[in-house]
Amino acid sequence: MSSSFTRALRPALSSGRTLAQRAAAGIARPAMRSSIPLRHLSTTAIRHSPIDISDIPPTPITHLSEIEAAMTESVSKFAADVVLPKARDMDEAETMDPALVEQLFEQGLMGIEIPEDYGGAGMNFTSAIIAIEELARADPSVSVMVDVHNTLCNTAILKWGSEHVKRTYLPRLATDTVASFCLSEPVSGSDAFAMAARATETADGFVLNGSKMWITNSMEAGIFLVFANLDPSKGYKGITAFIVEKGTEGFSIAKKEKKLGIRASSTCVLNFDDVHIPKENILGERGQGYKYAISILNEGRIGIAAQMTGLALGAWENAVKYCWNDRKQFGSLIGEFQGMQHQFAQAYTEIAAARALVFNAARKKEAGEDFIKDAAMAKLYASQVAGRVSGLGVEWMGGMGFVREGLAEKYFRDSKIGAIYEGTSNIQLNTIAKLLQKEYTN
Ligand SMILES: Cc1cc2nc3c(=O)[nH]c(=O)nc-3n(C[C@H](O)[C@H](O)[C@H](O)COP(=O)(O)OP(=O)(O)OC[C@H]3O[C@@H](n4cnc5c(N)ncnc54)[C@H](O)[C@@H]3O)c2cc1C
Repeated sequence: MSSSFTRALRPALSSGRTLAQRAAAGIARPAMRSSIPLRHLSTTAIRHSPIDISDIPPTPITHLSEIEAAMTESVSKFAADVVLPKARDMDEAETMDPALVEQLFEQGLMGIEIPEDYGGAGMNFTSAIIAIEELARADPSVSVMVDVHNTLCNTAILKWGSEHVKRTYLPRLATDTVASFCLSEPVSGSDAFAMAARATETADGFVLNGSKMWITNSMEAGIFLVFANLDPSKGYKGITAFIVEKGTEGFSIAKKEKKLGIRASSTCVLNFDDVHIPKENILGERGQGYKYAISILNEGRIGIAAQMTGLALGAWENAVKYCWNDRKQFGSLIGEFQGMQHQFAQAYTEIAAARALVFNAARKKEAGEDFIKDAAMAKLYASQVAGRVSGLGVEWMGGMGFVREGLAEKYFRDSKIGAIYEGTSNIQLNTIAKLLQKEYTN
């Protein structure tokens, strides 16, 4: 892939030894930003194989491989230089700047885990998480576009697409076509599998009927991953996933929602009225859609947790810079007052705790360990922290935090979605409690 970002990283990708090889040679894992070339913990090539890391010295979970550190630096700069200056205007216009979407593709940020063979960057899950976090520091709307596209849509096609589907869609997803993940409906939100959308089989494919609601990226997307029930007699075991292209007859965007937050991110109602889908565009197997949705949302939650962690850090930085540099009251910078400093310290500690949960969940997923409870805890806690810290950011900045001149109030509005999409906070609590009960029941 010819993105500036991937070009810079490629030597690091190809020259290093694996962690296991390094451990076998008695070389300790280097600290962050070491000059020793290092293969990252998980690559797309080994994404499904649990890795034996038992002989590797423990390292802090937020330490990054060289390539992940490069990713952080590069995306952080892109977010600050390119995304941040557009954030306020895009929010006011409730529109994603198309030029920015093009730049996300050029930077390789829309095909992070797609293998190089299919035109992507061939990087690991943590790299995607890092990109989502760094983008959210500047604009959570841009972050969720990248999140849904990479962690839900690209991953689903990579995991369950036939070779034909992968060859047809992955190069487009990596280079120029945005994707949407279409599960929720007017009748099915938390109870996602109570969906009403139906698919029927024909001689040459399928016909899809129904509506989807609250679908992220749908104004910009060219490819839609749609869940519908192919055999309602089997209940949720009839749910099947399909790929629908923009422009297919009978498929339309019925309404674009006006929202409280992440307003630059499009959220739409979609209608499917006798939409013909070619038989090759089934994703994976008939009746496996519910399993795919559960699996992908378990991973996706780590992405939303990263979005919320980045948002919290962005809100914190935005406010403390003002308090420590700009605003004086009673003859002192307001950030000099201990009553303020204790709050800054408390908030930063909570962000660090959320970040640790996010990285732990991501690393467990990459290591092939069970990460479901960790992902739910990360999403639950990170969205709580994002709400708290962005709310405090408004208060710390006083009147300047409340007006729409700066970004403090926007971070606060944007934070609310963390407790709603990809499973509400109650649904995360249900998951955590269910797994704990299983663990602690005799
Ligand atoms: C901006 C935005 C973007 C979105 N993007 C997408 C997308 O790209 N693709 C997609 O498919 N969907 C998307 N969604 C939908 C989102 O996933 C749902 O809104 C979410 O799952 C909650 O469903 P609901 O809105 O129907 O709420 P409901 O399910 O009606 O929940 C309402 C309240 O009831 C509580 N509740 C429900 N069931 C239980 C229970 N069993 N125990 C305890 N409490 C419960 C909930 O926690 C919540 O507080 C998006 C939503 C929004 C707002």
